[in-house]
Amino acid sequence: MGTSTLHIDLDALAANWRALDKLSADTVETSAVVKADAYGLGVGKVARALMRTGVKSFFVAAAEEGVVLREAVGPKPWIGVLGGHMPGDTDMIGDMGLVPMLNSLDQITRHFEALPGRPFGIQLDTGMNRLGLEPVEWDAVKDLVMKAKPDLVMSHLACADEPEHEMNAYQLKNFREMTDGLKVRRALAATGGILLGPDYHFDLVRPGIGMYGGLPYEDGKPVVRLECPVIQTRDVQPGETVGYSNMWTAEVPSRIATVACGYADGITRLISNKAVLFDGETPCPLVGKVSMDLITVDITHLDQVPRSLDLLCAHQTVDDLATIGQTIGYEILTSLGARYQRRYIG
Ligand SMILES: *Cc1c(COP(=O)(O)O)cnc(C)c1O
Repeated sequence: MGTSTLHIDLDALAANWRALDKLSADTVETSAVVKADAYGLGVGKVARALMRTGVKSFFVAAAEEGVVLREAVGPKPWIGVLGGHMPGDTDMIGDMGLVPMLNSLDQITRHFEALPGRPFGIQLDTGMNRLGLEPVEWDAVKDLVMKAKPDLVMSHLACADEPEHEMNAYQLKNFREMTDGLKVRRALAATGGILLGPDYHFDLVRPGIGMYGGLPYEDGKPVVRLECPVIQTRDVQPGETVGYSNMWTAEVPSRIATVACGYADGITRLISNKAVLFDGETPCPLVGKVSMDLITVDITHLDQVPRSLDLLCAHQTVDDLATIGQTIGYEILTSLGARYQRRYIG
Protein backbone atom coordinates (compact mmCIF):
# COMPACT_ATOMS: atom_id res chain seq x y z
CA MET A 1 0.00 0.00 0.00
CA GLY A 2 1.90 3.03 -1.29
CA THR A 3 -0.73 5.71 -0.82
CA SER A 4 -2.48 7.14 2.18
CA THR A 5 -5.99 6.10 3.14
CA LEU A 6 -8.70 8.59 3.88
CA HIS A 7 -11.24 6.96 6.18
CA ILE A 8 -14.62 8.69 5.93
CA ASP A 9 -17.11 7.92 8.69
CA LEU A 10 -20.57 8.20 7.11
CA ASP A 11 -22.23 7.35 10.44
CA ALA A 12 -20.54 10.35 12.07
CA LEU A 13 -21.56 12.51 9.10
CA ALA A 14 -25.20 11.40 9.43
CA ALA A 15 -25.10 11.97 13.20
CA ASN A 16 -23.73 15.48 12.67
CA TRP A 17 -26.52 16.28 10.19
CA ARG A 18 -29.17 14.98 12.61
CA ALA A 19 -27.69 17.05 15.46
CA LEU A 20 -27.69 20.19 13.27
CA ASP A 21 -31.25 19.39 12.15
CA LYS A 22 -32.35 19.30 15.82
CA LEU A 23 -31.09 22.87 16.35
CA SER A 24 -33.98 24.29 14.30
CA ALA A 25 -37.73 23.78 14.66
CA ASP A 26 -39.46 20.85 12.96
CA THR A 27 -41.06 23.28 10.53
CA VAL A 28 -37.61 24.29 9.22
CA GLU A 29 -36.19 22.08 6.49
CA THR A 30 -32.53 21.11 6.91
CA SER A 31 -30.84 20.65 3.54
CA ALA A 32 -27.20 19.68 2.94
CA VAL A 33 -24.45 21.51 1.06
CA VAL A 34 -22.34 19.04 -0.96
CA LYS A 35 -20.42 21.40 -3.24
CA ALA A 36 -16.76 20.73 -4.11
CA ASP A 37 -17.31 16.94 -4.13
CA ALA A 38 -18.92 17.12 -0.67
CA TYR A 39 -16.03 19.18 0.74
CA GLY A 40 -13.58 16.69 -0.76
CA LEU A 41 -15.13 13.57 0.77
CA GLY A 42 -16.89 12.12 -2.31
CA VAL A 43 -20.30 13.44 -3.28
CA GLY A 44 -21.93 10.14 -4.29
CA LYS A 45 -21.29 8.26 -1.05
CA VAL A 46 -21.89 11.33 1.11
CA ALA A 47 -25.17 12.32 -0.57
CA ARG A 48 -26.58 8.78 -0.47
CA ALA A 49 -25.73 8.48 3.23
CA LEU A 50 -27.45 11.82 3.88
CA MET A 51 -30.53 10.71 1.95
CA ARG A 52 -30.77 7.60 4.11
CA THR A 53 -30.78 9.84 7.17
CA GLY A 54 -33.55 12.08 5.84
CA VAL A 55 -32.05 14.79 3.62
CA LYS A 56 -34.45 15.82 0.82
CA SER A 57 -32.62 18.80 -0.65
CA PHE A 58 -29.02 19.51 -1.58
CA PHE A 59 -26.96 22.47 -2.74
CA VAL A 60 -23.99 22.39 -5.11
CA ALA A 61 -21.87 25.28 -6.43
CA ALA A 62 -22.14 24.68 -10.19
CA ALA A 63 -24.43 22.91 -12.66
CA GLU A 64 -21.66 20.40 -13.48
CA GLU A 65 -21.66 19.32 -9.83
CA GLY A 66 -25.45 19.08 -9.99
CA VAL A 67 -25.22 16.61 -12.88
CA VAL A 68 -22.85 14.34 -10.92
CA LEU A 69 -25.09 14.60 -7.85
CA ARG A 70 -28.27 13.85 -9.81
CA GLU A 71 -26.67 10.72 -11.25
CA ALA A 72 -25.77 9.61 -7.70
CA VAL A 73 -29.08 10.32 -5.95
CA GLY A 74 -31.72 9.73 -8.62
CA PRO A 75 -34.70 11.86 -9.59
CA LYS A 76 -36.23 12.63 -6.21
CA PRO A 77 -34.07 15.07 -4.22
CA TRP A 78 -34.27 18.81 -4.89
CA ILE A 79 -30.88 20.14 -6.07
CA GLY A 80 -30.11 23.85 -5.82
CA VAL A 81 -27.20 25.39 -7.77
CA LEU A 82 -25.62 28.25 -5.81
CA GLY A 83 -23.82 29.66 -8.87
CA GLY A 84 -27.18 30.11 -10.59
CA HIS A 85 -27.78 29.79 -14.35
CA MET A 86 -24.57 30.50 -16.27
CA PRO A 87 -24.21 30.66 -20.07
CA GLY A 88 -23.99 27.07 -21.29
CA ASP A 89 -25.81 25.62 -18.26
CA THR A 90 -29.29 25.46 -19.78
CA ASP A 91 -29.19 21.84 -20.98
CA MET A 92 -27.73 20.55 -17.70
CA ILE A 93 -30.29 22.45 -15.64
CA GLY A 94 -33.18 21.40 -17.86
CA ASP A 95 -32.21 17.76 -18.40
CA MET A 96 -31.17 17.07 -14.81
CA GLY A 97 -33.93 18.99 -13.05
CA LEU A 98 -31.59 21.36 -11.24
CA VAL A 99 -32.81 24.53 -9.52
CA PRO A 100 -30.52 27.51 -10.17
CA MET A 101 -30.32 30.19 -7.46
CA LEU A 102 -30.45 33.15 -9.87
CA ASN A 103 -28.20 35.92 -8.66
CA SER A 104 -28.37 38.77 -11.19
CA LEU A 105 -30.78 40.41 -13.61
CA ASP A 106 -28.86 38.75 -16.47
CA GLN A 107 -29.39 35.32 -14.96
CA ILE A 108 -33.09 35.95 -14.39
CA THR A 109 -33.50 36.96 -18.04
CA ARG A 110 -31.49 33.98 -19.23
CA HIS A 111 -33.49 31.50 -17.15
CA PHE A 112 -36.90 32.93 -17.99
CA GLU A 113 -36.09 32.92 -21.70
CA ALA A 114 -34.34 29.55 -21.91
CA LEU A 115 -36.41 27.51 -19.46
CA PRO A 116 -39.73 29.30 -18.92
CA GLY A 117 -41.87 27.74 -16.23
CA ARG A 118 -38.99 25.70 -14.83
CA PRO A 119 -38.08 25.96 -11.12
CA PHE A 120 -35.60 28.51 -9.82
CA GLY A 121 -34.58 30.32 -6.67
CA ILE A 122 -33.36 33.86 -6.09
CA GLN A 123 -30.22 35.02 -4.32
CA LEU A 124 -30.25 38.40 -2.63
CA ASP A 125 -27.24 40.40 -1.53
CA THR A 126 -27.77 41.53 2.06
CA GLY A 127 -24.28 42.99 2.50
CA MET A 128 -21.66 40.39 1.61
CA ASN A 129 -21.19 41.85 -1.88
CA ARG A 130 -20.39 38.54 -3.47
CA LEU A 131 -23.49 37.14 -5.17
CA GLY A 132 -27.10 38.17 -5.46
CA LEU A 133 -29.44 41.03 -6.35
CA GLU A 134 -28.94 44.36 -4.64
CA PRO A 135 -31.98 45.91 -2.92
CA VAL A 136 -32.68 48.35 -5.82
CA GLU A 137 -32.44 45.56 -8.40
CA TRP A 138 -34.76 43.37 -6.33
CA ASP A 139 -37.27 46.20 -6.04
CA ALA A 140 -37.29 46.55 -9.80
CA VAL A 141 -38.00 42.89 -10.60
CA LYS A 142 -39.67 41.58 -7.44
CA ASP A 143 -43.26 41.61 -8.75
CA LEU A 144 -42.35 39.92 -12.01
CA VAL A 145 -40.20 37.31 -10.26
CA MET A 146 -42.78 36.53 -7.59
CA LYS A 147 -45.39 35.88 -10.31
CA ALA A 148 -43.13 33.09 -11.58
CA LYS A 149 -43.20 31.52 -8.09
CA PRO A 150 -39.59 30.93 -7.00
CA ASP A 151 -38.91 27.78 -4.93
CA LEU A 152 -36.76 29.78 -2.53
CA VAL A 153 -35.36 33.22 -1.82
CA MET A 154 -31.99 33.11 -0.09
CA SER A 155 -29.03 35.15 1.07
CA HIS A 156 -25.71 34.33 2.76
CA LEU A 157 -24.07 35.65 5.94
CA ALA A 158 -20.51 36.98 5.82
CA CYS A 159 -19.63 36.73 9.53
CA ALA A 160 -21.84 33.98 10.97
CA ASP A 161 -18.82 32.25 12.52
CA GLU A 162 -18.50 35.27 14.85
CA PRO A 163 -21.80 35.31 16.80
CA GLU A 164 -21.16 38.76 18.30
CA HIS A 165 -20.37 40.41 14.97
CA GLU A 166 -22.73 43.29 14.17
CA MET A 167 -22.83 42.21 10.50
CA ASN A 168 -25.16 39.34 11.45
CA ALA A 169 -27.97 41.53 12.75
CA TYR A 170 -27.38 44.00 9.88
CA GLN A 171 -27.78 41.29 7.22
CA LEU A 172 -30.79 39.81 9.03
CA LYS A 173 -32.47 43.22 9.00
CA ASN A 174 -31.73 43.69 5.28
CA PHE A 175 -33.01 40.19 4.47
CA ARG A 176 -36.24 40.85 6.34
CA GLU A 177 -36.72 44.21 4.65
CA MET A 178 -36.26 42.61 1.25
CA THR A 179 -38.49 39.57 1.87
CA ASP A 180 -41.03 40.14 4.67
CA GLY A 181 -44.58 39.59 3.48
CA LEU A 182 -43.62 37.68 0.33
CA LYS A 183 -45.28 34.32 -0.19
CA VAL A 184 -42.10 32.31 -0.70
CA ARG A 185 -39.84 30.04 1.32
CA ARG A 186 -36.79 31.84 2.69
CA ALA A 187 -33.25 30.68 3.63
CA LEU A 188 -30.39 32.60 5.22
CA ALA A 189 -28.36 30.25 7.43
CA ALA A 190 -25.41 27.96 6.73
CA THR A 191 -23.72 26.17 9.68
CA GLY A 192 -22.78 29.41 11.45
CA GLY A 193 -26.26 30.87 10.93
CA ILE A 194 -27.92 27.79 12.44
CA LEU A 195 -25.90 28.39 15.61
CA LEU A 196 -27.04 32.05 15.75
CA GLY A 197 -30.53 30.87 16.71
CA PRO A 198 -34.11 30.72 15.44
CA ASP A 199 -34.29 34.33 14.12
CA TYR A 200 -31.87 33.24 11.42
CA HIS A 201 -33.52 29.94 10.44
CA PHE A 202 -36.54 31.02 8.31
CA ASP A 203 -37.90 28.04 6.27
CA LEU A 204 -34.74 26.20 5.27
CA VAL A 205 -31.16 25.98 6.58
CA ARG A 206 -28.10 24.94 4.55
CA PRO A 207 -25.33 23.35 6.64
CA GLY A 208 -22.07 22.28 5.05
CA ILE A 209 -18.94 22.28 7.23
CA GLY A 210 -20.74 21.30 10.44
CA MET A 211 -21.81 17.98 8.91
CA TYR A 212 -18.22 17.25 7.95
CA GLY A 213 -16.99 17.74 11.51
CA GLY A 214 -15.63 21.29 11.16
CA LEU A 215 -15.92 24.54 13.10
CA PRO A 216 -17.86 26.68 13.86
CA TYR A 217 -19.98 23.66 14.94
CA GLU A 218 -18.06 22.57 18.04
CA ASP A 219 -20.14 19.51 18.91
CA GLY A 220 -19.55 17.67 15.63
CA LYS A 221 -17.99 14.23 15.53
CA PRO A 222 -14.81 13.89 13.45
CA VAL A 223 -15.67 12.46 10.04
CA VAL A 224 -12.21 11.94 8.53
CA ARG A 225 -9.10 10.02 9.50
CA LEU A 226 -6.03 10.28 7.27
CA GLU A 227 -3.80 7.24 7.64
CA CYS A 228 -0.33 7.52 6.10
CA PRO A 229 1.67 4.31 5.57
CA VAL A 230 5.28 4.16 6.80
CA ILE A 231 7.46 3.37 3.76
CA GLN A 232 10.87 3.31 5.42
CA THR A 233 12.66 4.11 8.67
CA ARG A 234 16.26 5.13 9.36
CA ASP A 235 18.40 6.01 12.35
CA VAL A 236 20.16 9.38 12.29
CA GLN A 237 22.99 10.62 14.48
CA PRO A 238 23.23 13.97 16.29
CA GLY A 239 24.10 16.69 13.78
CA GLU A 240 22.51 14.88 10.80
CA THR A 241 19.72 16.69 8.97
CA VAL A 242 16.44 15.52 7.47
CA GLY A 243 14.79 16.53 4.21
CA TYR A 244 14.85 19.58 1.93
CA SER A 245 16.78 22.69 3.05
CA ASN A 246 18.09 20.77 6.09
CA MET A 247 15.16 22.17 8.03
CA TRP A 248 15.53 19.76 10.93
CA THR A 249 18.71 18.61 12.66
CA ALA A 250 18.89 15.67 15.09
CA GLU A 251 20.10 16.64 18.56
CA VAL A 252 20.11 13.08 19.90
CA PRO A 253 20.24 9.69 18.14
CA SER A 254 16.83 9.55 16.45
CA ARG A 255 14.66 7.19 14.45
CA ILE A 256 12.91 8.80 11.49
CA ALA A 257 9.94 7.29 9.66
CA THR A 258 9.13 8.37 6.10
CA VAL A 259 5.40 8.24 5.32
CA ALA A 260 3.58 8.40 1.98
CA CYS A 261 1.75 11.72 1.98
CA GLY A 262 2.77 15.19 0.82
CA TYR A 263 1.72 18.52 -0.56
CA ALA A 264 0.55 16.88 -3.78
CA ASP A 265 -2.04 15.22 -1.56
CA GLY A 266 -3.22 18.60 -0.33
CA ILE A 267 -1.14 18.76 2.85
CA THR A 268 0.07 22.33 3.13
CA ARG A 269 3.83 22.91 3.50
CA LEU A 270 3.01 25.41 6.24
CA ILE A 271 2.75 22.49 8.70
CA SER A 272 6.42 21.58 8.06
CA ASN A 273 8.33 21.01 11.32
CA LYS A 274 5.16 21.92 13.30
CA ALA A 275 2.35 19.35 13.14
CA VAL A 276 2.41 15.89 14.71
CA LEU A 277 1.25 12.51 13.43
CA PHE A 278 -0.35 9.99 15.75
CA ASP A 279 0.49 6.36 16.45
CA GLY A 280 -2.82 5.58 18.13
CA GLU A 281 -2.80 8.01 21.05
CA THR A 282 0.90 8.84 20.86
CA PRO A 283 1.96 12.05 19.09
CA CYS A 284 5.06 11.89 16.86
CA PRO A 285 6.56 15.19 15.61
CA LEU A 286 6.62 15.92 11.90
CA VAL A 287 10.25 16.86 11.28
CA GLY A 288 11.65 18.84 8.34
CA LYS A 289 9.75 19.98 5.28
CA VAL A 290 6.64 18.40 3.84
CA SER A 291 7.71 17.34 0.34
CA MET A 292 5.56 16.51 -2.68
CA ASP A 293 4.84 12.89 -1.80
CA LEU A 294 6.56 12.32 1.54
CA ILE A 295 6.58 13.45 5.16
CA THR A 296 9.28 12.60 7.72
CA VAL A 297 8.36 11.87 11.33
CA ASP A 298 10.37 11.44 14.54
CA ILE A 299 9.38 8.08 16.07
CA THR A 300 12.38 7.73 18.41
CA HIS A 301 10.09 7.36 21.44
CA LEU A 302 8.02 4.48 20.00
CA ASP A 303 8.73 0.88 21.04
CA GLN A 304 8.18 -0.45 17.54
CA VAL A 305 7.80 0.88 14.02
CA PRO A 306 4.10 1.37 13.26
CA ARG A 307 2.69 0.34 9.87
CA SER A 308 1.09 3.74 9.52
CA LEU A 309 0.65 7.11 11.27
CA ASP A 310 -2.45 9.33 11.34
CA LEU A 311 -2.21 12.95 10.24
CA LEU A 312 -5.91 13.62 10.77
CA CYS A 313 -7.80 11.82 13.54
CA ALA A 314 -9.80 12.51 16.70
CA HIS A 315 -6.61 13.85 18.36
CA GLN A 316 -5.76 16.21 15.50
CA THR A 317 -8.89 17.43 13.73
CA VAL A 318 -9.15 19.32 10.46
CA ASP A 319 -9.38 22.53 12.49
CA ASP A 320 -6.30 21.67 14.57
CA LEU A 321 -4.33 21.11 11.38
CA ALA A 322 -5.83 24.28 9.90
CA THR A 323 -4.62 26.34 12.87
CA ILE A 324 -1.08 24.96 12.50
CA GLY A 325 -1.22 25.57 8.72
CA GLN A 326 -2.67 29.11 9.09
CA THR A 327 -5.89 28.29 7.24
CA ILE A 328 -9.44 27.05 7.96
CA GLY A 329 -10.91 23.56 8.22
CA TYR A 330 -12.81 24.08 4.96
CA GLU A 331 -9.55 24.49 3.05
CA ILE A 332 -7.90 21.46 4.68
CA LEU A 333 -10.89 19.28 3.71
CA THR A 334 -11.34 20.53 0.17
CA SER A 335 -7.58 20.29 -0.52
CA LEU A 336 -7.38 16.58 0.34
CA GLY A 337 -6.15 15.18 -2.94
CA ALA A 338 -7.34 12.62 -5.45
CA ARG A 339 -4.48 10.21 -4.74
CA TYR A 340 -5.86 8.78 -1.51
CA GLN A 341 -7.70 5.52 -1.27
CA ARG A 342 -11.06 6.53 0.17
CA ARG A 343 -12.58 4.02 2.60
CA TYR A 344 -16.10 4.57 3.79
CA ILE A 345 -17.32 3.44 7.19
CA GLY A 346 -21.05 2.93 7.80
C1 LIG B 1 -20.78 26.96 1.19
C2 LIG B 1 -22.11 27.56 1.43
C3 LIG B 1 -22.95 27.06 2.45
C4 LIG B 1 -22.47 26.07 3.48
O1 LIG B 1 -21.67 26.77 4.39
P1 LIG B 1 -21.01 26.10 5.68
O2 LIG B 1 -20.34 27.22 6.35
O3 LIG B 1 -20.05 25.07 5.16
O4 LIG B 1 -22.10 25.48 6.48
C5 LIG B 1 -24.24 27.56 2.51
N1 LIG B 1 -24.67 28.53 1.67
C6 LIG B 1 -23.88 29.05 0.70
C7 LIG B 1 -24.41 30.11 -0.17
C8 LIG B 1 -22.57 28.60 0.57
O5 LIG B 1 -21.78 29.14 -0.37
